Amino acid sequence: MEKCNSLRLQKLIELFSEYGRTENNGVTRLSLSAEDIAARKKLQALCEEIDMTVQYDDMGNMYATLPGKQNLPPIVIGSHMDSVIKGGRFDGVLGVLTALEAVYTIKEQQIELDFPITIVNFTNEEGARFEPSLMSSGVLSGKFAKAKMIASRDRNDITFAQALSESGFEGPETNRLKEATAYIELHIEQGPVLERKKLNIGVVEGVLGMVCYEISVYGESNHAGTTPISMRKDPMFTAANMIADMQKQLQGLDSDLVYTIGRINAYPNIHTVIPSEVTFTLEARHQNPQVISEVSRMVKELPQNLNGCSIKSTRLWDRDTVDFDVEVVDAVEAACSKLGYKGSRMYSGAGHDAQFIASYIPSAMIFVPSVNGYSHREDEFTSYEDCVKGADVLLNAVLILSREKVNN
Ligand SMILES: [Zn+2]
Repeated sequence: MEKCNSLRLQKLIELFSEYGRTENNGVTRLSLSAEDIAARKKLQALCEEIDMTVQYDDMGNMYATLPGKQNLPPIVIGSHMDSVIKGGRFDGVLGVLTALEAVYTIKEQQIELDFPITIVNFTNEEGARFEPSLMSSGVLSGKFAKAKMIASRDRNDITFAQALSESGFEGPETNRLKEATAYIELHIEQGPVLERKKLNIGVVEGVLGMVCYEISVYGESNHAGTTPISMRKDPMFTAANMIADMQKQLQGLDSDLVYTIGRINAYPNIHTVIPSEVTFTLEARHQNPQVISEVSRMVKELPQNLNGCSIKSTRLWDRDTVDFDVEVVDAVEAACSKLGYKGSRMYSGAGHDAQFIASYIPSAMIFVPSVNGYSHREDEFTSYEDCVKGADVLLNAVLILSREKVNN
């Protein structure tokens, strides 16, 4: 098993933390901002120093390629370097820097691979400056229309197209990531599971499917003092009872189901008035589409009338579970176990570029623990020990895949 250089990786992480560093040791590196452009230039320089060829496509995605012994479709590794406002030093950028460290190790140990290795930096994953998130992987995979994406405007009314053309990182469409042997994205977990279970590595099998409903309860608005309880159509207590009942049903579906009522509004929302309407959202995520359809069935079977109130539900949006490629996931797991690191298979509850790329390239992800499960915060942290373990798993998964694939 090959090992990466932990000190070199730590220095890389520290170096890139300077691009957009905040007062509290976090990072604000919005997509295509001056800070992002400086970080991109540094990445390009470091890659060119080790004889990688750097190209950009028409969404500003960066690709740095180390040639292989054969001219085969590359094994692609990486993530994104943009951040949210006052984000952390690990989200996204760690996937790019562990990829760079893996290539450093390949060069240093003179490992000869049949496949080219491409480090990717996807533009505007966070969607923090230009909505939506996963913008460029969405365009590459055909999920989003490019024309609509590049018209997206930031708070200062600058379009993505303008920011990209001024950045110097706009390339031709022909450079887009097309055929590849595999894509592996290392990312921080952004949740508490690995840390709680004292694991170093999450072998990510896919991204959870989800469904989101908006449920409205309509009653009758009236004076809070003069309307006897028996003469009310009160949507708030009706909604409260429904929510309590839903919680019982949801708990009974599957212990891995996660569900959230994240938004609730009362109208007119005045303390002396019985509301006329209460509207809330119900969002649920699970890997098994059957469990998600059980949630949908529960919502469909809600009564249309309750306590004199009428009830209406609308499906706002949903996402199918994305299952990663079995062979690539197996390679990640084999690398983890051969290195003797404590890992476990898991699904991602959050979205990542890999979920879109997986639609046309065999993909998988590697998670490393997030201290306290924190992310999108300045104090987001992953120990350097866990970072290098992740890099080791990434490197060895690439080596395993490269050997397996060339024999096929
Ligand atoms: Zn991220």
